[in-house]
Amino acid sequence: MKTLVFGTKPYDRRFLEAANDQHGHSLTFLEPRLDEATAALAAGYEAVCVFVNDTVSRPVLDILAEGGVRVVALRCAGYNNVDLAAAEELGIAVVRVPAYSPNAVSEFTVGLVLALDRKIHRAWARVRENNFALDGLIGRNLESRTVGVIGTGRIGALVARAFKLGFGCEVLASDPYPDAELAAVGIRYVEPEMVLRSSDIVSLHCPLTPKTRHLVDAKAIAEARDGLLLVNTSRGALIDTRAVIDGLKSGKIGGVALDVYEQEADLFFEDLSSEIIQDDDFQRLLTFPNVLVTGHQAFLTEEALRAIAETTLTSLSDYEAGRPLANRVEAEKVRPSHLASEAS
Ligand code: NAD
Repeated sequence: MKTLVFGTKPYDRRFLEAANDQHGHSLTFLEPRLDEATAALAAGYEAVCVFVNDTVSRPVLDILAEGGVRVVALRCAGYNNVDLAAAEELGIAVVRVPAYSPNAVSEFTVGLVLALDRKIHRAWARVRENNFALDGLIGRNLESRTVGVIGTGRIGALVARAFKLGFGCEVLASDPYPDAELAAVGIRYVEPEMVLRSSDIVSLHCPLTPKTRHLVDAKAIAEARDGLLLVNTSRGALIDTRAVIDGLKSGKIGGVALDVYEQEADLFFEDLSSEIIQDDDFQRLLTFPNVLVTGHQAFLTEEALRAIAETTLTSLSDYEAGRPLANRVEAEKVRPSHLASEAS
């Protein structure tokens, strides 16, 4: 299929081109994101391929449809940036990659906890300055501490297992659909409030929905254990950033590791090292010694990128051959519970 790939990074191109040897689609790569200004570039293409921060709104879809686009292929799991109802009305199929590598994200999450808890990010910076002093780098053993996992789906289940079976932690979990296999290995399901109140470390793995927005707010932080370590590799808006900043300033929160951030669309995936960042909350976060931020890279492994490319191109091949689309996202199927859900 003649496909225009928006928001291309070098690694997207490398993995899509490698996987395309088996599919033979005609891929054209563009650096700009898809939005109202760039949508007209897709005229004459049958498909566009986009990522988490491209805009696939009704006006954009109108322009795409007019130019002949029949498929929007998301090279990610989330579809919160797509107006599914408009796509359906316009006869545009939307496909995604629902699960490319839960291990990529769960392993990164464990890495963030270890780095934050043992102050590895600070040690690295010190040693580069020939400062080998250890004062201020005292950490805690993970064994026997209580880790709370909110959302035990594909990623959260792996995180819960790693802490329980790998590190000997007590693991509390919450999920509307408890996993019997996790319960069988001793992971205890409790209410979300209880997870937040009774854990030393809390890791978020539920989707962003109206219900989970600002799940970690000022109240939750006030009720949490002193010195709470908070880890978010799920979606930025699960956390009220300003409340977290207040918690860090007061010392109530002992550390925060974020791979996602509420306003990340204006920042992440771009090199802004020569720019003045206007987001004061983000800049304040970076001033704390006990805050570790990465730019939405938990998914970024060879295996995940290969799986994303293969699934995306298979969807295009299936569409072209008139086969059923296993990874199609349809408006009525996701409403109402997942209407505003986000996943990367
Ligand atoms: P999943 O759908 O397999 O699991 C999500 C789980 O959350 C489900 O079991 C669901 O029942 C549960 N859940 C829903 N509402 C809840 C609530 N109110 N409280 C507790 N649990 C709730 O999704 P996944 O593949 O495990 O992905 C989890 C999250 O990770 C995604 O939502 C996405 O935002 C994020 N993600 C991040 C990256 C990254 O690079 N940082 C990559 C992929 C996914």
